[in-house]
Amino acid sequence: MFPFEDINDFNIRMDQEHELFRKSIRQFCEDKLSPIIMDVERTNDIPKGVIDDAKKLGLTGIGIPQEYGGQGGDMRMQVIMSEEISRVLPSFGTMLLVNHLFVDPLIIFGTEEQKSRYVVPVATGKALAAHASTEPGAGSDVAGISTTAKKVETGWVLNGRKAFITNADRADFFLASARTSPINPQSRWRGLSTFIVERSFNGLEIGHKFDVIGLRGEQPNEVIFNNVTVPEANLVGKPNEGFKVVVTTYDYSRILIAAQAVGIAQAAFEMAFNYSTQRNAFEKPIASFEGVAFKISDMLMELEAARLLTYWAAYLADTKKEFYMASSIAKTYSTETAEKLASLAIKIHGGAGVDRDTGVERFLRDSVITTIYEGANDIQRLTIFRSLLKMVSKNLEVS
Ligand SMILES: Cc1cc2nc3c(=O)[nH]c(=O)nc-3n(C[C@H](O)[C@H](O)[C@H](O)COP(=O)(O)OP(=O)(O)OC[C@H]3O[C@@H](n4cnc5c(N)ncnc54)[C@H](O)[C@@H]3O)c2cc1C
Repeated sequence: MFPFEDINDFNIRMDQEHELFRKSIRQFCEDKLSPIIMDVERTNDIPKGVIDDAKKLGLTGIGIPQEYGGQGGDMRMQVIMSEEISRVLPSFGTMLLVNHLFVDPLIIFGTEEQKSRYVVPVATGKALAAHASTEPGAGSDVAGISTTAKKVETGWVLNGRKAFITNADRADFFLASARTSPINPQSRWRGLSTFIVERSFNGLEIGHKFDVIGLRGEQPNEVIFNNVTVPEANLVGKPNEGFKVVVTTYDYSRILIAAQAVGIAQAAFEMAFNYSTQRNAFEKPIASFEGVAFKISDMLMELEAARLLTYWAAYLADTKKEFYMASSIAKTYSTETAEKLASLAIKIHGGAGVDRDTGVERFLRDSVITTIYEGANDIQRLTIFRSLLKMVSKNLEVS
């Protein structure tokens, strides 16, 4: 049981509502996403029509309270959506998920005015959003950013350059982090603030598009703030406490990356299993050789373990229990499982596995990104260890 206190910390409850939702998302994926996979890989673009279909179905509002224009729904529903979409087209899942990196901090830390002005249009699909934290010189080290926001009479003036910003070329709104006080080596995380920047604000530029190996169709861009004036009303949370806004957002969103990885792993597993029963070598299906069958069994074991960890983290979050450690465990295990299963799926396909037209190798290109973004897995390991120390010291205080 150590370091957990109660066996109930390992509960996972899924309801009929979750299953009905899963079926409806799967239908959407089969009807709208499956037919465009190869086109998206080739053109590196997601057709606008499919984004509009998702909006019509209300997918931009899942997990957002109805009072702010959303469809409601818990973390488990968001996990189901991320998993099912990523089973077919992970880049489409990333596009929808990034909205949450904008909306969630506003729901938790924003004012009522910010919620009605910015959350409602994103939830209803009228607007798309992005989250601009990473910079050329600072990714894992969130406190190391160098974008600045200087106080002026009408609000704040932002200057700096952000890198790898998903949705940047489509987004109407950005959540941007900037330094509002000089860095103090004793408490580097203090002195950051977060702001809502509209695409139409003077001085905001979308820069270079990165050509990343995976998640084709949803490639990140640079975002440049060149003397962008942001009104005071667009400060999210308290000044100098932006670090908390950013990392709290990631506590939730990394569960959705875990789910994305489960979706990729599921797809890799299904393709590998199907191929192993259909492909003959030495006059037998290759699945009849132990060397292949054992690989398939290992894939299934690891896939289901990843899924359980991911649903567990989501259930802890839904039941308002401590979930930060679980979300880091789920993110790390699931993304590394997806990478491993993608690699095994390629090998089980032999030569066909490295032929782009087979559609298997993309799982490896997509899954490696899940191990990097939303907090690289080394950083997750640090979070897990720090959470463990916190739990241990809490238990020592009690005993
Ligand atoms: C496709 C894609 C989309 C993205 N979308 C967004 C987005 O929408 N918004 C956004 O803000 N960012 C986005 N990112 C950026 C992403 O979050 C960062 O790439 C990630 O946080 C890692 O930061 P970095 O690239 O600067 O690597 P670094 O922080 O430089 O890390 C490099 C290596 O060093 C390791 N490392 C660093 N510090 C430590 C440590 N203390 N202990 C052990 N190891 C360490 C890391 O694990 C990694 O292996 C995206 C990235 C990609 C690839």
